[in-house]
Amino acid sequence: MEKNIPELFGSSVFTDKIMRDKLPKDMYKALRKTIDNNTHLELDVANAVAVAMKEWAVENGATHFTHWFQPMTGYTAEKHDSFICPVDKGEVIMDFSGKELVKGEPDASSFPSGGIRATFEARGYTAWDPTSPAFIKDGTLYIPTAFCSYSGEALDKKTPLLRSMDAISREAVKVLKLLGKEDVTNVLTTVGPEQEYFLIDIEDYKKRKDLIFTGRTLLGAPAPKGQEMDDHYFGNLKPRVAAYMHDLDEELWKLGIPAKTKHNEVAPSQHELAPVFDTTNVAVDHNQLTMEIMKKVAEKHGYVCLLHEKPFAGINGSGKHNNWSLCTDTGINLFAPGKNPQGNILFLTFLVNVLMMVYKNQDLLRASIMSATNCYRLGANEAPPVILSIFLGKQLTAVLDEFVKQDYSSKSDKAENLTLKLGIDRIPEILLDTTDRNRTSPFAFTGNRFEFRAVGSSANNAGAMIAINAAMANQLQEFRATIDSYMEEGMTKTEALFYALKEAIIESAPIHFEGDGYSEEWKQEAAKRGLSIINNVPEALMQYKSRQSRAVLIGEHIFNEIELASRLEVELEKFTKKVQIESRVLGDMANNHIIPTAVTYQNRLLENLRGLRETFDIEEYKVLSAECKDLIREISFRITDIKRLVKEMVDARKKANLLENYQERAFAYEQEVKPYLEQIRVHIDKLEMEIDDEIWPLPKYRELLFTK
Ligand code: ADP
Ligand code: MG
Repeated sequence: MEKNIPELFGSSVFTDKIMRDKLPKDMYKALRKTIDNNTHLELDVANAVAVAMKEWAVENGATHFTHWFQPMTGYTAEKHDSFICPVDKGEVIMDFSGKELVKGEPDASSFPSGGIRATFEARGYTAWDPTSPAFIKDGTLYIPTAFCSYSGEALDKKTPLLRSMDAISREAVKVLKLLGKEDVTNVLTTVGPEQEYFLIDIEDYKKRKDLIFTGRTLLGAPAPKGQEMDDHYFGNLKPRVAAYMHDLDEELWKLGIPAKTKHNEVAPSQHELAPVFDTTNVAVDHNQLTMEIMKKVAEKHGYVCLLHEKPFAGINGSGKHNNWSLCTDTGINLFAPGKNPQGNILFLTFLVNVLMMVYKNQDLLRASIMSATNCYRLGANEAPPVILSIFLGKQLTAVLDEFVKQDYSSKSDKAENLTLKLGIDRIPEILLDTTDRNRTSPFAFTGNRFEFRAVGSSANNAGAMIAINAAMANQLQEFRATIDSYMEEGMTKTEALFYALKEAIIESAPIHFEGDGYSEEWKQEAAKRGLSIINNVPEALMQYKSRQSRAVLIGEHIFNEIELASRLEVELEKFTKKVQIESRVLGDMANNHIIPTAVTYQNRLLENLRGLRETFDIEEYKVLSAECKDLIREISFRITDIKRLVKEMVDARKKANLLENYQERAFAYEQEVKPYLEQIRVHIDKLEMEIDDEIWPLPKYRELLFTK
């Protein structure tokens, strides 16, 4: 029987409609005010909501509730409490109070705090985020929350995300006022994250320790066929994959996640799911849930879902393409060309400020997406490079080129006249048939939004969104200050706007690049333009502390000094631990699986040699055995080299572990330990091709990627 999808959608969510139905009118109104205007929530309202929520949850089979939060690990965390409350005579009732709804106290001592808790001896608590709806999953009511220390420091990804959304709203509203848009009180940031992932067969997965422990293959020679035929992208879905995607959609829809688009991606076994965009914090919550559900549903279908950014060397990695825009509470998308001259002034102003934002904050944006896992994708030839740049498309480029050629002379000082004069009143028509899409740009304009494509597939999306929102807030503030100062010098407002825009276009020109972002030439060109290029992970992360990043993050009150330092520490430690684990796993696989296999094969070859010798006379033997001897020699050299390299790697690790300072440790892991992973792999991948397929102990790329 056909399912009723509109009925299914959001059936596990405590939606606005349910709240309206269940809550007394005045309570519902008060709650809406809190959600829409970010006002304080009174306890009586919280109590009423708690009762309604519990009633609904119990009706729908829930027995427990949990404060669901996003610690700095990047994962989500939950501790389940049941609703039961003992009353007289061994009986229980189902109970849930406003206090329990609003605040929770998980034993949070094991979550990374980057030194915050050590300094302040403070426990953490979780606080309800009423702007992201509660939902039921596996018999538990999930309440989205923020996670802070008692001294008020953020211990999670959500608190700074909410702060960054406030900051950008505040600054955008001020700029809009300056431009004569007085009616806007709130500007929302919206995100639609396209999520890429791999599906591989669970039986193959179980045989690969590297996948189990690190999420990527630490070794594996290329399959005879890769992605060169371009036959996977948008190709037919195999029935088993289609069944998976179908199930996944339904699970997501139940949770109110508007999964919309699904298709095969470029690499074999790679796929993508995109939801309809939503307000940033909701979209981030949904993306975290989506990743979790992707993995869970995969198991039901005998698959494992890999979210690692680069599970397989030599073929495309996975990202999250963050479609990002700004939308006023009056319904204007600020990155959509306007319908009239005034609308286009708004559009142009915000567009130019994005150019400046990215130009000035290349290092912060990179820091926000850099990790031990994403670094393998960023460097590669098929993924956004570590160099930030913006793609605008031909038409928009022409508009900006025209703009900088103009000079200000206007009899009537009205912004409308300015747009007419510049010819930018026609922007919507020009953009209407924009089809040029540059998929190699890390930050591309796509008609009515920007797409930040460098974000890693496994990352919590909050990190990147915090950086973008905060940087944009900061940029808008500086832009306004420039206009103010010009006006103080005696310019009219329109004149000041004209020059501020023109200067920003000229200054940010180096970040604007329309060519192939994957090409070798771009690396050279970018260096010539003075753009920042940092491949080293700890160094990229250290840019959280650069002067500009601090101006943005601390200046816009996203973090205080302690919070910023703690973030950096957590990120560096995470990097160190991941490389450490990879190094241990590879060492183990090399010593306990690969070398014994190579020795077995070597012995077999030696036996073969003996056989040849017994069978043929010495002259014939010489000729016939030459190749076999070469192979034995080569395998022997590789075995010796692998042993030596593994030993050196272990020593490098030991030395790095002795470093007390977490920054030095991260750098040691990057520079002294990580290079061994590649060096050891080269030998192993050659052995894979030299040794008899029958005795190779691991599923190969061709099995992992092609058979199922
Ligand atoms: P493509 O692959 O062509 O980039 P997709 O359809 O896969 O496009 O994904 C586009 C994403 O952009 C969707 O999540 C969509 O909801 C989102 N999107 C569209 N408009 C906006 C907007 N104004 N703000 C944020 N995201 C948007
Ligand atoms: Mg896209």
